[in-house]
Amino acid sequence: MARLGPSVREAVLRVGAGELSCEEHVASRLERMPRMDRDVHAFLHVAGEQAVLAARELDQKVKRGEKVGRLAGIMIAIKDNICVDGMPATCASKILEGFQPRYDATVVERVRREGAIIVGKTNMDEFAMGNTTTTGAFGPTRNPWNLERVAGGSSGGSAAAVAGGMTTLALGTDTGGSVRCPASYCSIFGLKPTYGAVSRFGVIPYANSLEQVGAFARHADDLRLLFEVISGHDRRDSTSARERGTVEPPAMKGLKVARIREFFGEGINERVRERVLDASSKLEELGATVEEVSISSLGYALAAYYIVAMAEASSNLSRYDGVRYGASLEKGSADWNAAFAKTRTDCFGAEVKRRILLGTFVLSAGYYEAYYLKAQRARSLLRSAFSRAFKKYDLLLGPTMPTLPPKVGERMTPLEDYLADVNTVPANLTGVPSVSVPAGFADGLPVGMQLMATHFAEETLFRVAGAYEEVTA
Ligand code: GLN
Repeated sequence: MARLGPSVREAVLRVGAGELSCEEHVASRLERMPRMDRDVHAFLHVAGEQAVLAARELDQKVKRGEKVGRLAGIMIAIKDNICVDGMPATCASKILEGFQPRYDATVVERVRREGAIIVGKTNMDEFAMGNTTTTGAFGPTRNPWNLERVAGGSSGGSAAAVAGGMTTLALGTDTGGSVRCPASYCSIFGLKPTYGAVSRFGVIPYANSLEQVGAFARHADDLRLLFEVISGHDRRDSTSARERGTVEPPAMKGLKVARIREFFGEGINERVRERVLDASSKLEELGATVEEVSISSLGYALAAYYIVAMAEASSNLSRYDGVRYGASLEKGSADWNAAFAKTRTDCFGAEVKRRILLGTFVLSAGYYEAYYLKAQRARSLLRSAFSRAFKKYDLLLGPTMPTLPPKVGERMTPLEDYLADVNTVPANLTGVPSVSVPAGFADGLPVGMQLMATHFAEETLFRVAGAYEEVTA
């Protein structure tokens, strides 16, 4: 289980001072990996040789007296929808089996440049659609705290790898909660940055207007460091923000926090509510003032999210035609339409097909206005409500997930499953940054507290998460 080891900054100092052989360290951890991951199944691919090689090069650099990067020697796992040169990228889908990108995503390039050691690709829900990491084609990931439970999703492999002590850091993607949900279920820190703060170049898209690459760590300050490394303008992503606004982080004393009333209402588990209320009192003890706010347009968020996400997914997933990437059934068949249909029918999972169908439906003539446009209008309502709230408050607070992690294989209807995202999708619809912070346990299972701040106010999140960590760890 996750030991609260030294911070990344401390470890990097030791590496830079040559106090520790990275190669030995990485090799010994990789050797233990198969045993550690046997029951959890966080990884789809372990990058044994490449990781050891990178560690050896780093040791040589240190010996030559060269300066090392901000993540020197730190192990990092990458979600399988983010491209790493020379490693598979399947998105946990049969349709991408055998696909191996020949380039690094910008975020991968940036962590490599700072000396991080990429240890492998992590499991996820197929094409990042889900919140359990059980819908992928290669088997579920289990929660390292309780193997009967899910790790959350869709970046469940990344969260479980960090929580299970198999890696120090991990990257995931968050379209509607996919970093914060598994961070919460696995009792670690998870960040969804401001929309546009982190490049999506080299990320296999699910829903472009909602998605951001996010980070996992065991300490708030490690999360800050990883965010500092991966964020910043990238001309290869047209949605990447040119200028980061300067949001001066407020002090803990006098920090204005609002609990979102809608997040504590109907459908919430009683024990989760208690834990998060306790956590918010801790912030008061640290000097914050905590009030309650009601944002009525949150009532539209989940419906608006699923309409927009499915619409964008249906368009994004049309590229998997069995010709350009991955699996290709009936190769050489003269009937192109039949080959196309066969590949997609056999290689997409049920949830992915459901979303392609529904997404195509909400975009089709006659329904577009009734669904897609209405969802966009709800989205702008919510955006204005959030910007009003952030004029008054530094942070909005609530439980990350309304319930405790469900059991692996527990039967849920698609709708019940979507409902669990009710607290996480608002940050994606509005583009604001959000973290999930470990807030203790209920019935032996992790609970996460979600904090949201205004656009580009990540530093406020790190400060408050760090202050909270200090008094509770
Ligand atoms: N559970 C949500 C969905 O299925 C969010 C997933 C995500 O953030 N990638 O769309």
